[in-house]
Amino acid sequence: MTTVFQERSSCAICGNEKEFVKIYSTNSFGSPDLDTRPPEMMRSTMHAWVQQCPECGYCASDVVKAPPEAKKIIEDEKYKSQLKDEKYPKLASLFICMSIIEEQAGNYVNAMWALIHAAWVCDDSEHPNEAKTCRNRAVEMLLTAERYGKKLTKQKGSITAILVDLLRRSGRLEDAREAIAQRRAEISEKTIITILDFQSALIKKGDVSCYTVSQAMKNKSEKK
Ligand SMILES: [Zn+2]
Repeated sequence: MTTVFQERSSCAICGNEKEFVKIYSTNSFGSPDLDTRPPEMMRSTMHAWVQQCPECGYCASDVVKAPPEAKKIIEDEKYKSQLKDEKYPKLASLFICMSIIEEQAGNYVNAMWALIHAAWVCDDSEHPNEAKTCRNRAVEMLLTAERYGKKLTKQKGSITAILVDLLRRSGRLEDAREAIAQRRAEISEKTIITILDFQSALIKKGDVSCYTVSQAMKNKSEKK
């Protein structure tokens, strides 16, 4: 069961106060997707992962905190037009706006996750093109974070598994294939190698749909 509570927070940019929904506890039964998306019930708690100040439009995981750049960014046309962009589900726009701020503040890993979360919202509301755009921008953030030597995941190989899934799901099959070819040899974790082999098979079939980690594992045990 997911239990939520309301918390009154004051916006770090404009001082406006609002009650936001926060997750007290949740659970997940089953396997995450290959891009780490959790199963239910946590899967359905995304609305609580991003907050928006209704007064100034500031979007963050917690509006009480803001990087110094945020005040200027939220007045930017790019930011404002994303908030109003009706092509995107509202919740996806909030995540994208959060990613714009995180990117400008140099927090590329946070920006990547915000874009991946935006893609999940687009998946759920059947906005395939918008989901693709979010995944492509998440790839950009991932590669930028790597260039700056940022630590992306606890397990070293996990980020390659995420990168390959982002590329495959957005239809960039050749780029996905290349990413596996370039990075597979450096990976020692058996689970990640199994996932990459499963991804290779999907890429060969031109399959861009969503799969879970347990489907990748099952695929391996069936082959034995
Ligand atoms: Zn505000």
